[in-house]
Amino acid sequence: MTAEPSPVRVRLAPSPTGTLHIGTARTAVFNWLFARHCGGRFLLRIEDTDRERSKPEYTANILEGLQWLGLDWDDEPVIQSQRLEQHRAAIQQLLDAGHAYRCYASEAELTAMREAQAAAKQAPRYDNRHRDLSPEQEAAYIAEGRQAVVRFRIDDARTITWSDLVRGEMRWSGRDLGGDMVIARRAPAGQIGDPLYNLVVVVDDAAMAISHVIRGEDHIANTAKQLLLYEALGQPAPQFAHTPLILNQEGKKLSKRDGVTSISDFKAMGYSAAALANYMTLLGWSPPEGMGERFSLAEAAPVFGFERVNRAGARFDWEKLNWLNGQVLREQGPESLRQQLAPLWAERGWGQAGADAPAHAVHADPAWQRDLSELLGPSLTLLADGVEQAAPFFTTPELNDAARGQLEVAGARAALAALAAALEPLTAADLGADQAQALLGEAAAAAGVKKGVIMKSLRAALLGSLQGPDLLATWLLLHRCGDDLPRIARCL
Ligand code: GLU
Repeated sequence: MTAEPSPVRVRLAPSPTGTLHIGTARTAVFNWLFARHCGGRFLLRIEDTDRERSKPEYTANILEGLQWLGLDWDDEPVIQSQRLEQHRAAIQQLLDAGHAYRCYASEAELTAMREAQAAAKQAPRYDNRHRDLSPEQEAAYIAEGRQAVVRFRIDDARTITWSDLVRGEMRWSGRDLGGDMVIARRAPAGQIGDPLYNLVVVVDDAAMAISHVIRGEDHIANTAKQLLLYEALGQPAPQFAHTPLILNQEGKKLSKRDGVTSISDFKAMGYSAAALANYMTLLGWSPPEGMGERFSLAEAAPVFGFERVNRAGARFDWEKLNWLNGQVLREQGPESLRQQLAPLWAERGWGQAGADAPAHAVHADPAWQRDLSELLGPSLTLLADGVEQAAPFFTTPELNDAARGQLEVAGARAALAALAAALEPLTAADLGADQAQALLGEAAAAAGVKKGVIMKSLRAALLGSLQGPDLLATWLLLHRCGDDLPRIARCL
């Protein structure tokens, strides 16, 4: 016996009029999680009917971004612009059934109508003025050379209800939907112009047998209109789940003005796909008790459900994203970190055999690089931090003011001189941690300073700064490439 395939079919319907936005990507995450949770299908539809603004490079960017995030989709993406015939056929069906009609009102007339509404302090809406034109009136408009849009009837008296998987019982009045809705742009007499969003979405979702429409709550009013279209087209309506918006620090909808909002920007900044996907899951969904906040998409899918999707907007929190990124970097282990950092180091000319001075062949040694990665790991937020922080290991840094100040501390230079003298015979030898500790103690004693003084001074000499990772590990790494003694010697 084979198990029944899951009837769950969800879709992401991005418009390729820009790069993959974090809001769209978060919608993709929720769709993916729900599909995988149910063993259903996650489909893509490229809504490229805005011919002027849609660009193939944006489609490529969106698909690449989804792939990078690990949001694999099922089947070939549906290309909306290839379905024009079906969209027009549905409009014809609505015209034939009397659910839609041609409206000849000119732009000037519509503007005058809106101005009159504004003057009367009324909400802008189409006043359905061409709803019941007689054939003679239509013929007269056509004779004038007017072109018509197609409008779908929305009765003021209608009440539209649905049970939203996130927001519960929803209720809209036909009166609040702005009057009869344009479903096709203007076209010459007898023709149907370009079909518009609400119509094409319904036709395509029905054709793709979409069971659940999961999208941002900015589409709620569209859902009310779309439900009327399903009814008029005689198609079963899917279920709806409206997810909370992503908000900026001021609590407003996150927009391009907030700077980084494209997935490719986050990627360029050095965020990992795993951290970003994890973070987006948390934007509006609360994991079950005990799960913690760091998880993979595959771990979230089995426990994902709409009952834990919040209704309130989700504030974008860079600190949490940074924390997650650091977690992801560390949990991969030093070897994986090394493999990711090595190409970035190589871009700076670091760590390539032969490119550095011959004495620095150690820089190209995977074992040395792995130990460096392990040392830097705990302080990394972004992978790119591992370039900045690795710099003093590959090239000798200048001393900053604090480091120079440290060398002026009483006994500092004397302690470093004692250390240099002890190191001289050890230049080619391995230096162990215990031995290094002992050398520090002896140098401090010889100069009559506290151990803290020699430690701070050694850090200043080695890194040119009083900040940096664990001192002993730093020293041992630099010793392996013969860099410790010359850096100490330059300070004497
Ligand atoms: N193309 C629409 C958008 O990107 C799709 C909305 C929907 O999911 O229906 O907003």
